[in-house]
Amino acid sequence: MTATSRPEALDAYRRDRGYLGADHARNERRTWIVTAICAVTLFAQVAGGIAFRSMALTASGLHMAAHVAALLVAAGAYRMARRYAADPRFAFGAGKLGYLAGFANGVVLAVTALAIGVESLQRLIAPEAVDYGSALPLAAAGLVVTVVCVALLKPRRGAHGADEVGDLNIAAAHLHLSADAIVGVLAIAGLAAGKSFGWSWADPLTGLVGAGLVAQFAAVLLRRAGAALLDMTPSPKLAGEIRTRLEAEGERVIDLHLWRLGPGHFAAVAAVAAPAARTTEALRARLAGVAALSHVTIELRRDGEPAHGPADGFAR
Ligand SMILES: [Zn+2]
Repeated sequence: MTATSRPEALDAYRRDRGYLGADHARNERRTWIVTAICAVTLFAQVAGGIAFRSMALTASGLHMAAHVAALLVAAGAYRMARRYAADPRFAFGAGKLGYLAGFANGVVLAVTALAIGVESLQRLIAPEAVDYGSALPLAAAGLVVTVVCVALLKPRRGAHGADEVGDLNIAAAHLHLSADAIVGVLAIAGLAAGKSFGWSWADPLTGLVGAGLVAQFAAVLLRRAGAALLDMTPSPKLAGEIRTRLEAEGERVIDLHLWRLGPGHFAAVAAVAAPAARTTEALRARLAGVAALSHVTIELRRDGEPAHGPADGFAR
């Protein structure tokens, strides 16, 4: 926080330090709804698996249990972020909890891809008899539930303005169920081919394609969530814009840090060399209206003044 002679101005900067996404409440609500849908489906599958002694139903139930667990992590992160939004122990709010949950669910997704891949390979090498009659309707019913969940979890487009990554917590759940929907369509195609033409390799082969796809989704998710957790600069374009605005009247930005605080919230720390007449307020005013810039700290270095600040970044 920049030092200022007006205490009321300092207080103004203390408002809304939670850095939660604009759609936090909507996304949290929808995550809970989808958790409930998956829990009911899980119950039906396990009950059906026991009643019909169906291994396929039990296997679907296991997958659904993984969904319930992953969705509980996502919903729990929303709840915790809300609860700790004003907690001063979080130096930059609790807006990054969603990235942590998204990263954890990215790991779950990667493990899912591995499991589908290994299972499909085993079946390709040593084909097992598939009961197409019961597997097909099961896959179709699963697909219907998944498509409903995908529709509910779809993040609202442009909800976080200049932040293109947006809310990665709901995006992780949406990505997982989207992958499942595609795997479901592939599975139905593979099962139908097996049933109609006797192609026993079709089902495991579509399984392998599905595994590759899920792995790809997991990699995207892990990269994005990892970048947010490691405070990577969210946008070189935005960094350039901030630099241009701060240097508008011959000033020189000697150090600039830009990182993500939460969905649609960025923070910037800048050290600026400027003529003696320039004030931090004037520089700060130039950054007003920069989209998604929620927290700004400016250190002013007078032209000609010797550098005696902290030994870190000012060499750059
Ligand atoms: Zn899944």
